[in-house]
Amino acid sequence: MLTVEKYGGTSIADQSLMDSAADHVAGLAKQGQQVVVVVSAQGHTTDALVEQARTLGLTPRQKDQLLATGELQSAEKMAMTLLSRGVAAVSLSGIEAGIHTDGRYGEGKILDIDTARIRQALERGKVVVVAGFQGDSGAGDFVTLGRGGSDTTAVALAAWLGAADCRIFTDVEGVYDRDPNRDSGAKKYDRISYEDMLSLIDAGAQVLHRPCVELAQQKGLKLWVGSAFTRGPGTTVGLW
Ligand code: ASP
Ligand code: MG
Repeated sequence: MLTVEKYGGTSIADQSLMDSAADHVAGLAKQGQQVVVVVSAQGHTTDALVEQARTLGLTPRQKDQLLATGELQSAEKMAMTLLSRGVAAVSLSGIEAGIHTDGRYGEGKILDIDTARIRQALERGKVVVVAGFQGDSGAGDFVTLGRGGSDTTAVALAAWLGAADCRIFTDVEGVYDRDPNRDSGAKKYDRISYEDMLSLIDAGAQVLHRPCVELAQQKGLKLWVGSAFTRGPGTTVGLW
C-alpha cells in the first residue's frame, strides 16, 4: 500500500517538529507501507526568500530558482532525519521526481509526472521525500506552483502513483465553515465535497491550495487534511 503524506511549513518548522513528523513516517515504513513524503519550506522561509528576490530585483526565472531552495532544504533535512532513525530514504527535487509543468514561472501547472525514479526508489524499500511547490519548466529549470503549491504536489503524486491515501498535515484540525482563528464558533467538517471545499477557498479559506482540490476532483482522489500536532480526525475532502 502506498501513502502520500505532505507536511506544511509550520508542521516541520524546527528540528523537533521535523523529528515528530519523521517518527510518524518511520512508523508507517516499519509497518511495511510505501511512503512518499512531500515537504514545504520550513516556517516562514518562503516569505523571506520572496523578500530577498524583491530586494535583489530578480527576474521571474531567477526568483523561481531561489524560491525552490526552501523546499529543497526541507527535503534534505527530512531524508536525513529518517536516515538517522534507520529508515532508508532519498530526497528528490521536483525536477528529479519527474514533475513536468507548463513552464509558467511563479504559477506553474503540473502537466505530467514521470514516476519511474520514484517507483524505483519505492521498490528498493526507500521512503521518497519530494520537495513540494516545484517542477520542471520543460527546459530543465525550476518552476514554482504558486503560494501553497506543495499541497498540489502531494495530490498530483498521489494521483499519478495511484496512492491509497493522500494526507495533508497542517497546523489546524481540518476544514472549518469559518476561520477558526477568528471565530470561536467555527465548526469543523468531518467530510466535505470538492465543490463545497472550492467555494470555501473562493470565500478566503487558506487551508488548501485551490489547484490541489481541482486536481483531486478531476482524478477522483480522496484527500485528508488535519493537524500534524494533535493527529486528530481531520477532514476528508471527496465526492459526498
Ligand atoms: N513554501 C511555499 C509557500 O509558502 C509552498 C507551500 O508551502 O505549499 O507558499
Ligand atoms: Mg498551505
